[in-house]
Amino acid sequence: MLAIAVFFLAHWWVSVFFQSFYLHRYCAHGMLTMSKGWERFFHFCTFVAQGSSFLMPRGYMILHREHHAYSDTEKDPHSPHVFRNLWTMMAHTKDRYRGIVVGTIEPESRFDGECPSWPALDRIASSWTTRIAFGLAYTLFYVKFAPHWAFYLLLPFHYLMGPVHGAVVNWAGHMYGYRNFNTSDKSRNTLFVDVLTAGELFQNNHHRHPTSPTFAKRWFEIDPTFVVIKMLKKLGIVQLKFAP
Ligand SMILES: [Zn+2]
Ligand SMILES: [Zn+2]
Repeated sequence: MLAIAVFFLAHWWVSVFFQSFYLHRYCAHGMLTMSKGWERFFHFCTFVAQGSSFLMPRGYMILHREHHAYSDTEKDPHSPHVFRNLWTMMAHTKDRYRGIVVGTIEPESRFDGECPSWPALDRIASSWTTRIAFGLAYTLFYVKFAPHWAFYLLLPFHYLMGPVHGAVVNWAGHMYGYRNFNTSDKSRNTLFVDVLTAGELFQNNHHRHPTSPTFAKRWFEIDPTFVVIKMLKKLGIVQLKFAP
């Protein structure tokens, strides 16, 4: 029981941290700078953390820039105000991501451009062999440590960790919570201390200040990813491109 709880929470938090820190803040928004060596290190960490559901930075970046440009309109790839339910929103996001990555969908050129890439790793990470190997590893862990078959119901979260985080953030972050800023979209701040998605649920703050490396804007708000970013800055590993 303890082993399963630790594994689930560790996979959830490590995966959402790298999605927020690397894919979102570094790749999609360019809020930070770092050396090529550290970029490769964090790219590799993102691959290991997301495992079977690794998202390629360029695909993530384009979809995310579309989300900011068309937030909560028909052209938003994942707005809860456009799709009937969570599943249709996730299915549409998956199809659009896949189309962009394989080249069957051509995005607007303004959303493409400079993006950290590691073609060899991205190819391996996105192969079915790798995805299935990670899935098998998660399953074997549960086979060994789950005290009851009912715990296997948690396995789909592990298989789809990256998209699950995207769905939680995009659905809850534009549906539930309070607003600090009167933005043209329907973004909200869902939690005061975002222990669930490492700061991503301060959507209203982020949409109002899309280049700010911290998503917390009021004294009572805590953005865990920015706490880590401040430590990495102190260590000289990252630099902030824009003021918090
Ligand atoms: Zn948003
Ligand atoms: Zn963003």
